[in-house]
Amino acid sequence: MRHRLEVAAKKGMLADSAMIAHGRGEAYDYLLGERTIPSAHFASQIALQSLQQAEHPVLSVNGNVVALAGDEVLQLAEKLNCPVEVNIFYRTPERMHALLSDLNERKKRLGVEVEILGENPDATIPGLKGPRAKCESRGILQADVLLVPLEDGDRCEALVAMGKTVIVIDLNPLSRSSRRGSITIVDELSRCLENMLSMPMQDLPTSDSYNHSQSLQNALNEIVDGMKYKFSEAKD
Ligand code: ATP
Ligand code: MG
Repeated sequence: MRHRLEVAAKKGMLADSAMIAHGRGEAYDYLLGERTIPSAHFASQIALQSLQQAEHPVLSVNGNVVALAGDEVLQLAEKLNCPVEVNIFYRTPERMHALLSDLNERKKRLGVEVEILGENPDATIPGLKGPRAKCESRGILQADVLLVPLEDGDRCEALVAMGKTVIVIDLNPLSRSSRRGSITIVDELSRCLENMLSMPMQDLPTSDSYNHSQSLQNALNEIVDGMKYKFSEAKD
């Protein structure tokens, strides 16, 4: 995963803070035992069902998401027949270009038909200032259900305020994105997307069986229980 980020950084796809965000995620993944916890598995089933039932689902991606799991995002978009929108916090023409060309190369290699948005923003997310507010009217603006992995807390909040169902993937159950999102999957991004890709689309649980604060509490409890690990009893 680190190597993928190094390669992406060299291609100009990442913001300077990308490694910091990744490091924070890695730390939480250790505390969760580097596995998909049951509450995250359930939340990802709920998320897949919401995306499937949406009128205008959109998968929003930033630099870290493209670098770590660009293929999986495109495959999920194809499975859901929905667009992917590049939506970055530190927006520059160079980074946008690097991300769009990386996604287009992946599309060709995978042979998937997915619409990639973000190049021509013609709308703004209310409540946000500057380039980070930009989005496409055909994409994020009109989306009713949005997947925003590794999203910034402010933007997550602004999207929820627009009345959208915002699905967050974030290893930190305490982050503002995790708390403010409508459905939060506390899991590592690529592991979560692989799970969603292998899930059957039928017989998924619906969002009325999802309890947001309970799901976050379960993730926190997994971390706290993990802390009861005893080194003296460990074989390695
Ligand atoms: P917030 O703004 O939501 O309060 P933050 O400022 O800590 O959170 P950001 O830097 O905006 O976080 O986004 C990075 C988030 O993504 C962190 O919460 C981190 O735990 C999470 N993260 C990083 N890498 C991964 C990954 N591979 N899979 C899942 N989550 C990740
Ligand atoms: Mg933040």
